[in-house]
Amino acid sequence: MNNSYQFSWKYLNTKEVKKDLLEALRPELTPTLSLNLKGMEIPRIDSESVVLQFSTDLVKNQVRTNAENAIVEFFKQNLPVSSSFEIKYSIKAPPQAPDNTQSIQPVTPQPTQVFASKFNSDYTFESFVCGPSNRYSYESALAVSKAPGHLMHNPLFIYGSVGLGKTHLLHAIGNFIRSTDPLKRVLLMTCEEMLNHFVQGLKSKDTGFRKWRDVDVLLVDDVQFLGGKQSFQDEFYNTYNSLAESNRQLVFAADRTPEKIDNLEERLISRFRSGILADIQLPDLETKMAITADLFQAFRVTIENDAIELIARSSSSNVRELKGVCLRLCTKASFLNKHLSREFVREHIDECVQINRPPLDPQIIMEEVANHYRITREDLLANTRKIEVAFPRQVAMYLVKEFTNLVLQQIGELFGRTHQTVMHACQKMETVFEKAAQAKAEGNFKSKDFRHAGEIQELKQILGTKYDHASTYR
Ligand code: ADP
Ligand code: MG
Repeated sequence: MNNSYQFSWKYLNTKEVKKDLLEALRPELTPTLSLNLKGMEIPRIDSESVVLQFSTDLVKNQVRTNAENAIVEFFKQNLPVSSSFEIKYSIKAPPQAPDNTQSIQPVTPQPTQVFASKFNSDYTFESFVCGPSNRYSYESALAVSKAPGHLMHNPLFIYGSVGLGKTHLLHAIGNFIRSTDPLKRVLLMTCEEMLNHFVQGLKSKDTGFRKWRDVDVLLVDDVQFLGGKQSFQDEFYNTYNSLAESNRQLVFAADRTPEKIDNLEERLISRFRSGILADIQLPDLETKMAITADLFQAFRVTIENDAIELIARSSSSNVRELKGVCLRLCTKASFLNKHLSREFVREHIDECVQINRPPLDPQIIMEEVANHYRITREDLLANTRKIEVAFPRQVAMYLVKEFTNLVLQQIGELFGRTHQTVMHACQKMETVFEKAAQAKAEGNFKSKDFRHAGEIQELKQILGTKYDHASTYR
């Protein structure tokens, strides 16, 4: 295995690793082993070793005896780890034994002990690339962190589509305040978590969940979740008032503006709008390049500037997806022992981007294809075999196959054709690409297939840009 890259897996989401690992091992696992692995945690991973954490020695030993080889194999195959890569085991700290002295001198639990927030230490202001698309949110979040509760920025409401850094900023606020003023009680919850506590509380007639009113800073993620939850909105409203009245800081994040949240009470909308309303837009090319460059620096991988630009141009504007693409390219380069040059990126970017992509709406695809060939969407569906329409129809079928999760049968239904017709269309496109590659090798740039392949490539690029909007609706 290649050792020339020193990977720092700072950005790697270990939950994803665990998910893939379980998926890969699934066929070989007994139900007990499967259960044991589910409870496992991966607190650390780098190119030399992975730490697997279990609740007891027994579980650890079972996994060690029965699955260690398969696990090591998984890491070697899927991540750019060294040949001496090994598993280190650890046991989760047991819950604290009850302290008898407490019954003599009762201690009132601190609210943060009830809802202790763990902030992701990777999500800081330093690791957040600030550009025109997110500057306002970034600066507002920083201002909040420096003077929580100040009237100038209370509440702060951050909104923007998925994967653009809202959660990152909430954690950055938490991390910042924790480090500058450890005594401040900072609580971060998703709106859904709050709702669960609320429902549980109502069921058990225990209002302990209202401890969230005793914090200095309340950060609530994904507040679009409030939509339509009437009695929870009342609770939320009262929480809001109780905190705001005593100048505690409130920060909210959502994927849309307050008034776009379905069935949200007017009084909450106006509260949300009463402080700073900051948006995060899709990042522009420079910001995407800076994020990409930062990421590779964190991986400690050298990459050419040209290659960075190509990655930034080819990937979605969803930063989460962009990060995934970078990681895959890194892994690939490491496996193949190749340098991350522009050529390498050009060759592999498509497959790396593809894996990340959410399905597109087939109607968007048909519309783009129809526009491109200057026909209508109805023409694509019509019962004519005229070549001006038949070829674009085949292209559309192929692209629907490529850009959605629909199976041939469903695509056929969409176009009012059989699944064989769709299959034939897809095969035809593959032939076009093959012939185009041949024509290119022969320098025959006037070839019909070469032109067609170019058109389809262009369409793919156009459709690639549609993800930024489509992924919002995932
Ligand atoms: P959201 O909550 O808006 O859906 P996240 O905050 O979860 O998005 O961000 C998705 C991923 O992209 C995270 O890994 C985050 O660190 C990263 N990210 C988003 N914006 C930036 C940025 N401007 N600079 C660095 N990383 C970013
Ligand atoms: Mg989020």
